[in-house]
Amino acid sequence: MSSLRFKVVEEASSRKAVPVDIPAERPETFYGKAVFNAQKMFEYLPKKVYDALSHAIENKEPISREVADAVAAGMKKWAIDNGARHYTHWFHPLTDGTAEKHDSFINHDGKGGVVEEFDGKQLVQQEPDASSFPNGGIRNTFEARGYSAWDISSPAFILGETLCIPTIFISYTGESLDYKTPLLRALNAVDKAATAVARYFDPEVKHVHSYLGWEQEYFLVDEALYAARPDLVLTGRTLLGHESAKNQQLEDHYFGAIPNRVAAFMLDLEIEAHKLGIPAKTRHNEVAPNQFELAPIFEEVNLANDHNLLLMSLMAKVARKHNFRVLLHEKPFAGINGSGKHNNWSLGTDKGVLLFAPGKTVKQNLQFLTFVTNVMVAVQEHNALLKASIMSATNQHRLGANEAPPAIISIFTGSQLAKILEKIETSTNEELSDLSKKEKYSVGLSQIPDLQIDTTDRNRTSPFAFTGNRFEFRAVGSMANCAAAMFVLNAAIADQLNKFKAAVDARVEKGEDLDIALLNEIRENIIKSKAIHFDGNGYSDEWKEEAARRGLDCETSAPKIFDAYLKENSIEMFKRTGVLSEVELKARNEVKWEMFTKKIQIESRVLGDLAINHIIPVATRYQSMLVDNVVKLKSLFEGVKGADIVAPDLETIEKISKHMVAIKHKTQEMINARKVANKIEDEREKAIAYHDTVQPKMDEIRYHIDKLELLVDNEMWPLPKYRELLFIR
Ligand code: ADP
Ligand code: MG
Repeated sequence: MSSLRFKVVEEASSRKAVPVDIPAERPETFYGKAVFNAQKMFEYLPKKVYDALSHAIENKEPISREVADAVAAGMKKWAIDNGARHYTHWFHPLTDGTAEKHDSFINHDGKGGVVEEFDGKQLVQQEPDASSFPNGGIRNTFEARGYSAWDISSPAFILGETLCIPTIFISYTGESLDYKTPLLRALNAVDKAATAVARYFDPEVKHVHSYLGWEQEYFLVDEALYAARPDLVLTGRTLLGHESAKNQQLEDHYFGAIPNRVAAFMLDLEIEAHKLGIPAKTRHNEVAPNQFELAPIFEEVNLANDHNLLLMSLMAKVARKHNFRVLLHEKPFAGINGSGKHNNWSLGTDKGVLLFAPGKTVKQNLQFLTFVTNVMVAVQEHNALLKASIMSATNQHRLGANEAPPAIISIFTGSQLAKILEKIETSTNEELSDLSKKEKYSVGLSQIPDLQIDTTDRNRTSPFAFTGNRFEFRAVGSMANCAAAMFVLNAAIADQLNKFKAAVDARVEKGEDLDIALLNEIRENIIKSKAIHFDGNGYSDEWKEEAARRGLDCETSAPKIFDAYLKENSIEMFKRTGVLSEVELKARNEVKWEMFTKKIQIESRVLGDLAINHIIPVATRYQSMLVDNVVKLKSLFEGVKGADIVAPDLETIEKISKHMVAIKHKTQEMINARKVANKIEDEREKAIAYHDTVQPKMDEIRYHIDKLELLVDNEMWPLPKYRELLFIR
């Protein structure tokens, strides 16, 4: 037990669960304790200010400077009452995660002391030195000013002792430099478009909200083991490591009993999440060993996404308290399942009606079919773009890896809905008008609730599945900011609903009955969206061929997938909905390509270092021990037993040599490929070079290292192995 590896394995396996500080009160007492929510606003703000702010939030209107000052005063009082000393604008730059720059409340009091201050200006707008946030060339570094501006629709909260104010982040010239800005724009667009359509069915509807329920998957690894793996520390995934003999074959982890140490972590995380108003509800083991999931109750998209980002940072903090590291990477371990973040998404009116849920009457079901088929058309038209919205250097390893949806977007409807769609599609005009009238017609629209959309009919291989009253976008990665997928989806739906409304109105103007006009356009939608509808096995090779025949986007190279943002129909759609301008789209793609390159570059450097400085020296040492042994055996048994006695060692020596030679050569080739790629100036071309020439070398190097792992003395192997990393006791 001499090596560092054995020491850390021992340390990890001897750990006990860390006791959790469980509040004496029930969740309803401490839920939202750290959030400046409506109840706190009511308590800390003058009635007039409270009313003005509530009105502005509800109607998505700006607030006046006087109101801002008064809100800031109340917010500061609340924050200080709850132990805050600093405040920060909290935003979501185009890198991963969130950004914050803390300022304390103190200011000179003019008498040599300080007072704690916080006014409306500081609340509403700041100019963080933004030069080091990626901007795709929108700002030159010397024009470093970017603005962060308060998003009043998401409440402020206290994290640690810092008051965090959710903000958007835009350039001096008004272009978005974050994820929240386009998300808010898309949510406005879908609110407007969907409200107009929902009014066909209920003229009283004032707003349509977009809802998101994310399911966050993650891995936990013991802190000591993590620290002994430079690849995990620096890249978030293992760049090498032979498969463990046992991993997920027995499927004994999924929904299994949660290990004590993990249960303690989960409970702690849940309590902290509840204090921050994150409605964490479901927790369970996932398919792979050491893989888990947390899902909240769904919320309005903007808030749900803030909560997801907040939860991801909270997870990292709480995990450390429990001597764990949380891995949010989509594919931390080769050969076993990766992590996703299914985005359950729906639209609902301010009257509480979910628009993707079938109802009890013909009218309700016309509404249901209207919204569902418009989603299908939008997803088909923008399937390449939706794929781009979830693609990243990290998620590329998960998609299509025989466990996650392929890199092709399709929609699963389930057989009941498929039957209804087919019925409408094949109905004659006469039958169509019957559908809308006869309550007792065999598959009339009033029958839909009787069909009971069956939620057990769930195709896990679909990237975009209808699940009864919502769609589940499953291709989203565990590390992702959900806003990327959500603004694309909501913008695309908004645009499609606008087109649908125009078409229906034109029919009505020509004298068609509204229900018939709707049914006709629904039928058009069904016909138009046939290519995207696929209920079969998304993992199969036949589907890849079929999808290509149907004209769906089948590109698998991440940097080329990003091109979809700059296709004519994407640019036009974003322009029409006001979500992103062409300048913004171009700048954001520059950032995407740059980020892609940087991530692969880092991985490639780490792997090169591990190969040459960790693996080769150990393999050499072991090999030389074998050589020593051969020499000794030969002298001992000289002439007695012939060559037989040294044959096994010689064979191993030779195998080790072959792998070492390959590793050295391929590492050099990888470095050369990097050098060539680094000279390319165009960010897109550079990312493609990294994808096409550097990435494949990494796989080749890994192959040989993993073979060596099986040959070299277990005691000498320098890095914790998969079987040690993956099983928490
Ligand atoms: P499963 O793993 O079976 O898909 P979970 O219960 O783990 O389901 O997660 C489902 C998620 O979907 C939860 O976050 C839930 O709140 C959310 N959800 C349920 N209904 C809706 C809806 N209408 N719109 C958006 N999200 C929803
Ligand atoms: Mg789940």
